[in-house]
Amino acid sequence: MRVHRHWTEKKLEEMTERCWRIFREDFNISYKGSKIPRPMRCWAESKLRPELLKAVERAGYKSPSAIQMAAIPLGLQQRDVIGIAETGSGKTAAFVLPMLNYITRLPPLSEENKAADGPYAVVMAPTRELAKQIEDETVKFAHYLGIKVVSIVGGRSIEEQAFKIRQGCEVVIATPGRLIDCLERRYIVLNQCNYVVLDEADRMIDMGFEPQVVGVLDAMPSSNLKPENEDEQLEGEKIYRTTYMFTATMPPAVERLARKYLRNPVVVTIGTAGKATDLITQHVIMMKESDKMYELQKLLGELGEKTAIVFVNTKKSADSLSKALDKAGYRVTTLHGGMSQEQREISLEGFRTNRYTVLAATDVAGRGIDIPDVAYVINFDMCGSIEMYTHRIGRTGRAGKKGVATTLLTLQDKQVFYDLKQMLIQSSSPVPPELARHEASKFKPGTIPDRPGRRNDMVFMPFYRPLVSF
Ligand code: ADP
Ligand code: MG
Repeated sequence: MRVHRHWTEKKLEEMTERCWRIFREDFNISYKGSKIPRPMRCWAESKLRPELLKAVERAGYKSPSAIQMAAIPLGLQQRDVIGIAETGSGKTAAFVLPMLNYITRLPPLSEENKAADGPYAVVMAPTRELAKQIEDETVKFAHYLGIKVVSIVGGRSIEEQAFKIRQGCEVVIATPGRLIDCLERRYIVLNQCNYVVLDEADRMIDMGFEPQVVGVLDAMPSSNLKPENEDEQLEGEKIYRTTYMFTATMPPAVERLARKYLRNPVVVTIGTAGKATDLITQHVIMMKESDKMYELQKLLGELGEKTAIVFVNTKKSADSLSKALDKAGYRVTTLHGGMSQEQREISLEGFRTNRYTVLAATDVAGRGIDIPDVAYVINFDMCGSIEMYTHRIGRTGRAGKKGVATTLLTLQDKQVFYDLKQMLIQSSSPVPPELARHEASKFKPGTIPDRPGRRNDMVFMPFYRPLVSF
């Protein structure tokens, strides 16, 4: 009897439909859309230019992550993409590499030539930190190709940023507010921008950036949008606008954006997006507010040389917690939205380089910031929603490493009891008895308690938004 060989033992041309199905299952890749190109199995099989492959090798990326396997071939065909994958899964390189590949086809921009028409590509991200992180990841590859990258974020001189753009830069990475500011003051135009990325689109919307995002998209030439009708032939030589959108959830405003600006997009989902990774051990401890500090010090006492992020809900608590921990002898630093850009960067840098082992942070640090090797996330204050909880604990358990997340829960946090309990059950984490038997953990807030059959596990699925909220 003939035994099927696994896809890993096959050459590309030997791959059958069945092999590809198993491949997708192995990497938890699912697609929605039409005419979807095959994922790439390894870097060598990607159609990236040799200089880029060389840069990938220098970065030490031995094999592509699942989102990279699925999304890079899409970007290389200038397809529009909606990507849904967990934090830490390598989404940045998944859009940066095809973007740089596209740019290498175009003449370099300098003051003498077409720099006045603006950059070739724009990436928008919700926070300065995230923009910085994307810039670092882009420069990692771009500098070998002579592609110039400028970030346009608040807290820095706008004139200086405008000056850099006028000198010619191919890629702009920006927060939407500052970018629209630059557009309105005519510091920048986007006449030849045909590669657009909206990173963490849902977060940008949450932060109220919808008008700015729309404003930026409308500032680009619409003549390059692909035809609405997907069957229409694309012209071979013509450059079309390619739009990438990454998001963890699909609230209506994000869907609106997608419908208006994306053409025949392919939706790529890796795993069950939004679900906390299995590598994170979750603990929840029920306690009184007044016992939290004692408990925290006990937890941090066991930390050794490992690093921890301690989340609180307000800037004030971040400052006071930081002060208290500093007094108690911990190497602690702070991160919150009330700090200047400089302060935030110094603080993050100190944490990254292990000068500090504890970071007291508000939700500014909850998403998108790449802080490697955080062994431990502590929710000193529980957050108001399970989505934010997922993002916070996603600061640990990244890149295949194991992590621990501990939450100090009080009776003030009733509004998340139900969702938190479901989350713990689904991830096979222990549910503290006080939480398990608490009335507020038995029904979703706002639902009617006489319909006990109602489950809410859909919360963790993309494209689903609970209809009843509180
Ligand atoms: P996401 O945007 O999905 O949260 P990032 O793009 O920030 O994730 O990547 C997380 C980390 O993984 C970064 O430090 C990045 O340099 C690293 N990384 C990305 N792709 C690879 C790869 N193929 N191999 C090894 N490390 C990678
Ligand atoms: Mg990211």
